[in-house]
Amino acid sequence: MKQINIDELARPHLRSLIPYSSARSEYEGPAEIFLDANENALGSVVGTYNRYPDPYQKKIKKKLSDIKSVLPNQIFIGNGSDEAIDLLIRTFCEPKKDNILIFPPTYGMYKVSAMINEVGVTSQPLTPEFELNTNELRNKSLNDVKLIFICSPNNPSGNRIPTETIKSILDNYNKIVVLDEAYIDFSNDESLIALIRGYNNLVILQTFSKAWGLAGLRMGMAYSNSEIINLLNKIKPPYNLNEPAQKIILEALNQKDRKEDMVKEIHQERTRLLQALQALNITQKVYPSDANFLLVKFNNAKKIFNYLINQSIIVRDRSNVILCENCLRITVGTNYENNKLIKALKRFH
Ligand SMILES: *Cc1c(COP(=O)(O)O)cnc(C)c1O
Repeated sequence: MKQINIDELARPHLRSLIPYSSARSEYEGPAEIFLDANENALGSVVGTYNRYPDPYQKKIKKKLSDIKSVLPNQIFIGNGSDEAIDLLIRTFCEPKKDNILIFPPTYGMYKVSAMINEVGVTSQPLTPEFELNTNELRNKSLNDVKLIFICSPNNPSGNRIPTETIKSILDNYNKIVVLDEAYIDFSNDESLIALIRGYNNLVILQTFSKAWGLAGLRMGMAYSNSEIINLLNKIKPPYNLNEPAQKIILEALNQKDRKEDMVKEIHQERTRLLQALQALNITQKVYPSDANFLLVKFNNAKKIFNYLINQSIIVRDRSNVILCENCLRITVGTNYENNKLIKALKRFH
């Protein structure tokens, strides 16, 4: 059991912060008439959205706690996991003083969120095979680092970081380790969410934006111990998740099978796309993927990227990203879309 002092790691001014108290949280028990929140009692111009949503999304957390085998007070729900990333940085990092640690190439929002908050970014690149080298990490000065962001499966490389590597970082550093599992549903390996019981310095991020197919709703989760979750709740915008989104997510959680069916189909398409891409003479390498995208090294990525735009097919140019020279990141599409892509690439010369 790893126990670090969370209170000591969090920004000192948050200890005495009194969070905003919403109207609905200032009474208990059943009620019939709500004249407390300056809503429009007559109704809405369209639909029925005149009441403020539940600031703590209790129904969703109850359901998620069953599905994920965690307690409701170990769940934070954000307006996308991007909100959780921003709030974690604002909870633990003092502007112009503290740092986050990232392992590029990785998800761009960690750095952008840090920079918006005037928080420093310490980088240790992954190896050319996108592995995380913990020996190299030992030689780095991490004195000012408060948060360590690990993305697994990693975006844009698609590979998983081995559990032993993640555990060794959790064990050896008294920092908050944020493990971003946005793509975990596409991996054959399991989520490390159960580790939040053994490590109070671990935060797991997951999202509804990928496997669940609900990117438009904006909902992402942070799972951790209740102390960290309470800190996030303290500084979040009170009504960060709107009412229709909360309703739809509840409905989605009753249809987990649909998600699993789609994941299976995406797996099949991923294998097919990988083989087809490997067979092209313009391809140098297709990196193995535990996610719903493939990182592909071509002979001339920029040319292919622009050619595909002309064919009305948009992929992500990662060729300017560290260790991703000549690489495009291609999301696995539908059978039809993947066929179109392969056909177009076969015609490229
Ligand atoms: C897509 C993605 C997210 C999801 O962000 P949301 O704000 O929940 O849509 C988080 N992390 C990584 C690595 C991603 O690629």
